[in-house]
Amino acid sequence: MRVALVNPSWTYDGSIYFGCRHPHLPLELGYCKALLESDGHEVLMLDGQLQRLDNQALASRVADFSPGMTVVTTAPTYLFWRCAPPELRVPAEFLSALGDSGGATVAVGPHASATPAPTLRKLSVDIVVRGECEEVVAELASTRDWSNIASTAYLEEGRTIVIGPVHASSFVNHPALKWPADWLANHHHHHHRFDSEPHGLGAEVEASRGCPYNCSFCAKIDFRDAYRRRNHEVIVEEIDALIAQGVGYIYFIDEIFLPQKALLEALVGRDVQFGVQTRIDLWKPELLELLGAAGCVSVEAGLESLTVEGREMLAKRCRLGTEELAELLIKARRHVPFVQANLIGVVQDEKSLVDYWRKHLISNGVWANDPVPLYPYPSSPSYREKWGEPDDHAWERAHDHYLASFDAFSEIQEQQPLPLPVLEQQCCRA
Ligand code: SF4
Repeated sequence: MRVALVNPSWTYDGSIYFGCRHPHLPLELGYCKALLESDGHEVLMLDGQLQRLDNQALASRVADFSPGMTVVTTAPTYLFWRCAPPELRVPAEFLSALGDSGGATVAVGPHASATPAPTLRKLSVDIVVRGECEEVVAELASTRDWSNIASTAYLEEGRTIVIGPVHASSFVNHPALKWPADWLANHHHHHHRFDSEPHGLGAEVEASRGCPYNCSFCAKIDFRDAYRRRNHEVIVEEIDALIAQGVGYIYFIDEIFLPQKALLEALVGRDVQFGVQTRIDLWKPELLELLGAAGCVSVEAGLESLTVEGREMLAKRCRLGTEELAELLIKARRHVPFVQANLIGVVQDEKSLVDYWRKHLISNGVWANDPVPLYPYPSSPSYREKWGEPDDHAWERAHDHYLASFDAFSEIQEQQPLPLPVLEQQCCRA
């Protein structure tokens, strides 16, 4: 079968989206492509950002390819499935431009995973994949009978048919990904890097997936949940191929980059720098030294709250006190040129206390952001605690709650985000 895989051309006007807006490698589509090709399918993979194509141009390319199936993602790469734009405006715009020219249509991503029925209706796709998508997409391509494929959902005479639970990819044996040279040539962005001007191209790699913790705000119940570590040799092979293509900086998209001595030692001798997101309470001083020696130039550590009570409220399961955490962050900063303590707006954290710790960290070279408000994503424990299992209005409910709760948003958000129905009114059909 001919299969088109599309990361549409993202725009964020009026969105609450607070993830990065630069182009990143669409890893989920890369894995899908590798699995599909190993099954003998012919694949056209497109990325609106990296190929600088708008949704109309992407649709024309897909139509020229004349696929039997077109897959579109509803979040701009796996890196942002946990903080996706709530609105489906962009994939809807691409699908509307595509019309009937893409064969059967499939949506993958966080929306379909948590709320299959409204995703099917808003996008008018034939089927959606629930959970991590790579193996399910390969299975869809292998058969014409889609009536009973696990981790999918479709509409039948107006009723939503949901087959089985969300999918967790086996992941550990995924092959080394290879990216087109012209995509990398447009990838100058070094994700979450602030220490110096970028040298060389940027890229994203996944060394592990999921996380053993369950913080209340973290949208990972339906995907990227259980912790899995990818085969070491394959990661090194993928990194070496990227270096050979001119990549000078890699961002590990892992939810939580745990100390992996073998990987860090492998990176020590390689001509590449990298960034990670992690929990600082899991690192020992000697491993922080190795992290720096391996070429790490950016650490984003989810501290979230500056009080034990606040961290407990967020279910961080953190055994260290604020002083010990601050000490570790400052130690990390001795070896890594940019270290950030991520903070979330928590009622337990009084302003004077936040100001004290922020000042302390910043004066020791650790960046601590102004605490940002939480969006209760339908795949997060906090959503389910508040409203139960996500229903057809889950995204609208979360969005309304968020807009009503806060009058100040993070630095990179629109200052006046719009309600979800307004964002979706022109493109989504229901
Ligand atoms: S440690 Fe990080 S990735 Fe893990 S559940 Fe908490 S916020 Fe999510």
